[in-house]
Amino acid sequence: MPLPARRPSVPVRVGPVTIGGGAPVVVQSMTNTDTADVAATVSQVRDLARAGSELVRVTVNERGAAAAVPRIREALDREGVHVPLVGDFHFNGHRLLAEEPACAEALAKLRINPGNVGRGSKRDPQFAEMVEFACRFGKPVRIGVNWGSLDQDLLTRLMDENSRRAQPWDAMDVVREATVVSALESAARAEALGLPHDHIVLSAKVSGVQDLIAIYTNLAARCDYPLHLGLTEAGMGTKGIVASSAAMGVLLQQGIGDTVRVSLTPEPNGDRTREVIVAQELLQTMGLRAFTPMVIACPGCGRTTSTYFQELAQRIQSHIRTRMPEWRRAHAGVEEMTVAVMGCVVNGPGESKHANIGISLPGTGERPVAPVYEDGEKTVTLKGERIAEEFQELVEAYVLRHYARREESP
Ligand code: SF4
Repeated sequence: MPLPARRPSVPVRVGPVTIGGGAPVVVQSMTNTDTADVAATVSQVRDLARAGSELVRVTVNERGAAAAVPRIREALDREGVHVPLVGDFHFNGHRLLAEEPACAEALAKLRINPGNVGRGSKRDPQFAEMVEFACRFGKPVRIGVNWGSLDQDLLTRLMDENSRRAQPWDAMDVVREATVVSALESAARAEALGLPHDHIVLSAKVSGVQDLIAIYTNLAARCDYPLHLGLTEAGMGTKGIVASSAAMGVLLQQGIGDTVRVSLTPEPNGDRTREVIVAQELLQTMGLRAFTPMVIACPGCGRTTSTYFQELAQRIQSHIRTRMPEWRRAHAGVEEMTVAVMGCVVNGPGESKHANIGISLPGTGERPVAPVYEDGEKTVTLKGERIAEEFQELVEAYVLRHYARREESP
C-alpha cells in the first residue's frame, strides 16, 4: 500500500537537520538532568543522540542552566556528538538570554511557550524580547503551546466570544480552539516582529488522544508551518507508549507531523533513551522511516511450550542493536532488513519467506529442526545445540553479502 502523502509544510533548518518541507520525520527527545550540571547533561545528550535522537532539548530555567549551555555544546563537539540542542524557555527566558547571550548562540533552536512568557502587560514585551534574540542569532523557534499552560487571557476572550454565539460551542471545543489560536496568533506575532516564516515550527500539546488528533488536524488545515507532534504527559510504561502511538499514528497516517517526541515518564532510574526507541519504532512500523532491522517474531502459543524461541528472538534483537552502530557505518541500507523468528511450522515458513532472513523453530511435537529462509528460499536446516549461534552467524553473513560496503570516511 502506498504511504500517505505528507502535508506540505515549509522546511525549517535546525542546524544540519531539516524539519518539514517533505524531509523525513525527525525524532527528538528531551533531557531530564539539571542543565546546570554540565557532566550529567552531556552524558545524557550523548546517550540520546547515540540512541538516534536527531535533536535534543534541554531546559533553560535559571542562570546556571543558561551559562552551562555553551559548555555543554563545546563538550559534545569535542566528543564528536554534533546533535543540535534546543533550549526550552519559560517565564524568564527573555532575561536569561539577555544575561547569557552565548546560550542563544550555542542553541540550534529556541522553544517558546506563549502561555508562559509572562502575565498581563508583561506578556507581549517579553515574548517580543525572546523573538528578537532568535532573530539576532538567526535561530528558528518552536512556538510550543501546551494546554496545561494555555494563555488564560486568550481563553477568556474566546469563552466570551463563544457566549455571544447563537449556538455556543461545547466548552471543551473552545479550549481546543484556544490551543490552536494561541499557536497561530503567536506565530503571526513572531513574524510581525521579524522572525522569518521558515524559522517557525508549531506544536500544540495536550494529554488526551482524541484532543490531540482534533487539535492537530485543525492546526494542519490552517497553516503551513512544520508541526512538532507529541502527546504531553503521556505517562509511564505501556500506557505512555500506547497513548502516544495511538494519537501520533492517526496523525502521521494523514501526513500530519514533521517531527515527533514521545514524552514517556521514565521508571525511577529508568533509561531515558526509551523514548527515542519508541519514536523510532513508531515511525518504522508505519513504514515512514527505517532505523534498524526489524525482528518479526510470533507471539508464541500452546505449540511452543519451551521458552527457547522467545530467547532466540530476544537474542537476535539484542545482537542487531549491538551490531547496528557498526553495520550502519559499514553497510548501506541495512536498516531496511527484516529478520523473522517464528515458533512453529504453522506460520513459521510463510512469515520467514516474507522476511529477508527468517528461521522457523520446531514447535512442540515437531521434528527438532529449524529451516532457515533467505529472500524467500529455504537455504539450510539447522539442528542440534547451536541453532541460536548458527542463525546469528547466518544473519551476519547475510548483512555482509547483501548490503554494500559504504566508503569509509577519511
Ligand atoms: S507460528 Fe506457531 S508458535 Fe507462533 S503463534 Fe503461530 S501457531 Fe503459535
